[in-house]
Amino acid sequence: MERIDEDRVGGPGEPPSLRRGSAEHVDLLSILPEEAAARLRAHFAGRGQPSYRAGQVLSWLHERDAMDFSELTDLPAAERAALAEAFLLPAPTRAREERSNDGTVKHLWRLADGELVESVLIPAADGRMTLCISSQAGCAMACVFCATGWSGYRRQLTAGEIVSQYRGSRRALREAGRGEISNVVFMGMGEPLMNRGAVMAALTLLNGAYGLGARRVTVSTVGIVPGILELAARPEQFRLAISLHAPNSELRRKIVPVEKKYPLPELLGALREFEAAGGRRITFEYVMIQGVNDALPLAHELAGVVGEFQSHVNLIPYNPIPGNDWRPSSPMRLREFAAILEEHRVPVTVRTPRGRDIAAACGQLAADHALRPPKPFLELKMPERSRAPAS
Ligand code: SF4
Repeated sequence: MERIDEDRVGGPGEPPSLRRGSAEHVDLLSILPEEAAARLRAHFAGRGQPSYRAGQVLSWLHERDAMDFSELTDLPAAERAALAEAFLLPAPTRAREERSNDGTVKHLWRLADGELVESVLIPAADGRMTLCISSQAGCAMACVFCATGWSGYRRQLTAGEIVSQYRGSRRALREAGRGEISNVVFMGMGEPLMNRGAVMAALTLLNGAYGLGARRVTVSTVGIVPGILELAARPEQFRLAISLHAPNSELRRKIVPVEKKYPLPELLGALREFEAAGGRRITFEYVMIQGVNDALPLAHELAGVVGEFQSHVNLIPYNPIPGNDWRPSSPMRLREFAAILEEHRVPVTVRTPRGRDIAAACGQLAADHALRPPKPFLELKMPERSRAPAS
């Protein structure tokens, strides 16, 4: 597992990575709306232009998803050129679009430096359209079931690169006449709370500038305690999902290595604070891997762990990735596991894998990078796996 320190990658001691580029060339997609408005007003004042030009630009950025200053056709050509001289608009390009038989659409985005990240649009039968976005290129968390973890960590995304996945996907949907994005989940590539500066800014942008609404945005984390506490302290009602995958520290450490840094009791303490801060329901994600974490006694144990919260458990059949012989739990085992949670009055949903045929399902995002098993996977040998409590 490649080591990555929170402080080095956006922890509390580090200034938010709101912008890329020099002081003269501010990234307009990464800065918060008030700062963007102030900088644009100053820019236009310096050119003898009316201040309403700033509003025109922001409307193109936040409502019409302009990808280039040349698209701002209600501004004079000279002003478009001056904007391109003064500011950066680093919109990622759509490198590939793949459509699944079930309506799921995966986008591969090429960033300014050539780095690739993925986002996924997931339509639901009730009309909702959920966008799953990435917060890092790769991931250092090395969860054993996850292709992103197997591809390693490459770099942080800026706030602009994060919201650009929303902008680009919304634009693609509108072009195809397929409606609007109703929800955003930070469940793509990367651990969002290991890139807190950019992710916190992206949350502010999505909620405010892009008008999505905090309750429709979910941050999914493997359990980064300081990040959960930071989210709890925010006044907006962003949703929280926890990638739990095991109900005790001993098993969780083998599946989710960050358990060593933030053990389950500490994580549960942070969740109590999150709940106390706003009474928001917490979603617990549990990937079901045959013979690893699907023994029925674990379902009773899981109910004991999540039962104290206003919670919902999602049971997700493991999505195979190249390079290992693991299998998803059988449909029967999923039903039995869910039934035990229900016995304990824990709300539970068995998730249907979406976009499996285009490798867009949970844990499959790798953006064309080579996959190497992380060290924790290599340590989790079959004999050890078979020691999981028998059902
Ligand atoms: S599950 Fe999330 S945190 Fe774990 S390796 Fe994959 S992307 Fe990273």
